Amino acid sequence: MKVIPIGIWGGYPKANGATSSFLIEHDGFHCLVDCGSGVLASLQNYVQLEDLDAVVISHYHADHIADIGSLQYSRLINYYLGKPAPALPIYAHDKDETNFANLSYKEQTIGVAVKETDIVQIGPFEVTFCETIHPVYCLAMKFTVDGRSVTLTADTEWNDRLVEFASGTGLLISEANLYEEHLGKSPGHMAGSEAGRLAKLSGANRLLLTHLPLHGDQKEILDAAKGVYEGDAELAVVGKVYEV
Ligand SMILES: [Zn+2]
Repeated sequence: MKVIPIGIWGGYPKANGATSSFLIEHDGFHCLVDCGSGVLASLQNYVQLEDLDAVVISHYHADHIADIGSLQYSRLINYYLGKPAPALPIYAHDKDETNFANLSYKEQTIGVAVKETDIVQIGPFEVTFCETIHPVYCLAMKFTVDGRSVTLTADTEWNDRLVEFASGTGLLISEANLYEEHLGKSPGHMAGSEAGRLAKLSGANRLLLTHLPLHGDQKEILDAAKGVYEGDAELAVVGKVYEV
């Protein structure tokens, strides 16, 4: 499968950028993970919006859902132009009833509820979930095809359960929103050293860091991760194709 970072920022995007989001492809099936600020603009560089087959949302913070409304408008406008498409499924938890209800829109998109215990088949992907530690309910996710997997932590502070969840994954996409000096001072997020520790303990083949802060020198976050994890680690690069 192929993974393409669409956005890498946490909170809000840099000029012309997007918040943390990834396109995962296999056998012509295109699945978007999270759809925050700037994502819809960036996404069109890598896939036609009408060719999107599914969306999975980790949680309902604005930097993960802000562009859902625009995505829904894109489907509706195509419908008015005489190019109707099947309703786009948007998979997410339904513990927040109002936000979950907003995923369904005029038969253009439809919210599909998932639970932590579910094993969901989304196109060619078997997708599993793990609750993270974050101020709102949030699900990490693992996409598996033919025994190969990509694991995305979504937003979380350190969580021992993620070690087993990500065990042996081909590509670990970890949030790393904090500089080391902010470790323990900002609940719900990890620093680079923790992302590196997660990659090391889970035996991940490769580590990508995302949900980065706009301030400071992000290379310090990568260096902190590399101080713990000896494998291949890098800051996620928008548009780069990562083969798993
Ligand atoms: Zn969040």
